[in-house]
Amino acid sequence: MAETPKPSTLRPSTVAVHAGRPPHEPDQPLNVPITLTSTYVAGGDKEYGRYTNDAWVAFEDTLGALEGGKALAFSSGQAATATLLDLVDQDSVVVAGQAYLGTIGQLADRESRGRVKTRLVDVSDTAAVLEAIDEDTALLWLESPTNPGMQVADLPTLIAAAHEVGARVVVDNTFATPILQRPLELGADVVLHSVTKYLAGHSDVVMGALVVSDPALWDVLKGRRDLYGAIPGPFEAWLALRGLRTLPLRIERASASAAELARRLEAHPAVSEVRYPGMGAMLAVVLPTAEQAELLTHSTLLWVHATSLGGVESTFERRRRWSGESPDVPEGLVRVSVGIEDVDDLWSDLLQALDKL
Ligand code: PLP
Repeated sequence: MAETPKPSTLRPSTVAVHAGRPPHEPDQPLNVPITLTSTYVAGGDKEYGRYTNDAWVAFEDTLGALEGGKALAFSSGQAATATLLDLVDQDSVVVAGQAYLGTIGQLADRESRGRVKTRLVDVSDTAAVLEAIDEDTALLWLESPTNPGMQVADLPTLIAAAHEVGARVVVDNTFATPILQRPLELGADVVLHSVTKYLAGHSDVVMGALVVSDPALWDVLKGRRDLYGAIPGPFEAWLALRGLRTLPLRIERASASAAELARRLEAHPAVSEVRYPGMGAMLAVVLPTAEQAELLTHSTLLWVHATSLGGVESTFERRRRWSGESPDVPEGLVRVSVGIEDVDDLWSDLLQALDKL
């Protein structure tokens, strides 16, 4: 009988397909079944549906193998963020490098109740981040590339500096995914994902995840998930795992298209600035005015004006339509999530819209 391959010795595109499977034994299914149960017959390890589910575990094993750590699934990225921020003691400082507006929103909410002090810095300004880190810093929260500014952080330098003062480092890896960047290998303590985006990849699931390298920290986080109940449904976890199987392929295709579109967009006279970090399938286009950005996002046939990102279908959004978005984000910035459609079809659709501006 074939031995089940050990994911850690394999490359990411093999891991994505083979991790988190039932053993290769007669009559075993290839995919973990969706177990719909709120409870388990007493006397075993599982006990209750808030504590574990086979579909979560299969998803966690696969994501953990891809990121090089131990994963924990949550009901959303925001639930994962809340669970992590709960670990920060009163009065200590979190330095956040231009993070997603929901992350900043949670920090602001805690700060308004005196639970934490937040310093916001430009994550791409290494000197400024280094200056903001001091002995009071408990947590350095990095996002790279940032949503939606597309800033890129010098992760190894910032992680090392935070560790020197005894702070933990979280990297929101939602945009890069473990296919392009593995922050735990660079020394980060925690990786956060909005699984809703690339990992699930089909715009049909809301889910989150944390991945850590320290098993003791995993136990603490799992204890909090058990207690607070920020768990995904079994079907969501199953769908997210199904999406994860094709993550390397989707990232490869969408990244190649994003690089090509960034090149073509830069040459278009209506575009003031293209922010493309040189990797991944996300970019931002800055137009001179909010009105032009609105017109662009309402003039396409294929591209969908929608929030969220990372699906097989190309979407874009003028981010300042959200009142909570950072004022540092230009009014005319359109965040672009490139899908896996034909790149020339995507360009033709963008071009006819840009030519109207
Ligand atoms: N982190 C990033 C970078 C995001 O873009 C998002 C959502 O847009 C989140 C976290 C929050 O994830 P969720 O919407 O799954 O709660």
